[in-house]
Amino acid sequence: MSERGRKISGEKISADIREEVKTEVERRANNGRLPGIAIIIVGEDPASKVYVGMKEKACLETGIRSLVIRMPAETDQQTLLAKVNEINESPDYHGLLVQSPLPDGLDENEVIHAIDPAKDVDGFHPFNMGMLAGGAPRFVPCTPLGIIELLKRYEIDPSGKRAVVLGRSHLVGMPMALLLARKAPGGNATVTICHSRTKDIPSITSQADILIAAIGQAKFVTADMIKDDAVIIDVGINRIDDPTAKRGYRLVGDVDFEYAREKASYITPVPGGVGPMTVALLLKNTLLAEELQYSTR
Ligand code: NAP
Repeated sequence: MSERGRKISGEKISADIREEVKTEVERRANNGRLPGIAIIIVGEDPASKVYVGMKEKACLETGIRSLVIRMPAETDQQTLLAKVNEINESPDYHGLLVQSPLPDGLDENEVIHAIDPAKDVDGFHPFNMGMLAGGAPRFVPCTPLGIIELLKRYEIDPSGKRAVVLGRSHLVGMPMALLLARKAPGGNATVTICHSRTKDIPSITSQADILIAAIGQAKFVTADMIKDDAVIIDVGINRIDDPTAKRGYRLVGDVDFEYAREKASYITPVPGGVGPMTVALLLKNTLLAEELQYSTR
């Protein structure tokens, strides 16, 4: 029997990536280049504020120029679109993202469509989604991209393996499945996507050599749903009540970690697994944006 329950540390790999980004920013600075990202946040959603704060801090630490544009919850669509256009035109900011979710009344789709695809570091613009679906990815959403990076750095090759992705969102599940199925290094898996209409999910997950859980359901994936020695990647971030915790709750993934790890060969913890990778890959996408804009100047 091979070794079981090895933890995949997103903390460590994301720290390595940040160091690499910092070195690259310094190298470009020697040539008078300064990669920059603008982040628009509308309203006061507490989780969004935390995420934006993490992104801003990561930029500061690595030397990437960052601008956080905070707009009130009452902002109307035209004002928001005008701000997006302003950043689209700015030579100082190579990347632009609008933090999701937007307050009620704002049309998120229209906003995403308004972002210059060349600056779309979140990879949500239909142009970039299309590039990924066509097998020539340019900007790819940061969470699935971070998972591919984790697999690569732990020398887990999806080629020829059965991969099952739980969830089909545009943010995680769908781009994840496309990346794993790609005819390219880091891909070449045989991929099945499950969603809320899928029947008998355990019969599918129990065949997975690589199982990616991205559904937002606390501890949904139990040990009996997992194949022996599978690689388990847990994207979920769910709050569950915990009177012993200072805040009265704690965060758990979509996988029942303690039991699942006894069957898995590798597994990501929550927190400390996929989460930190998302910000690290945003930094890498910002470098890519600057590179593309620099080389086409
Ligand atoms: P989402 O947009 O709500 O999509 C959830 C997906 O899961 C949908 O495709 C849905 O199916 C499916 N689903 C929900 N309940 C299910 C069930 N009981 N059985 C089977 N499928 C089910 O969520 P998301 O944005 O992809 O995020 C998923 C989770 O990842 C959340 O916990 C989120 O917080 C977390 N997340 C973490 C990071 C990170 O950096 N670690 C980044 C993004 C998201 P339908 O399509 O049929 O509705």
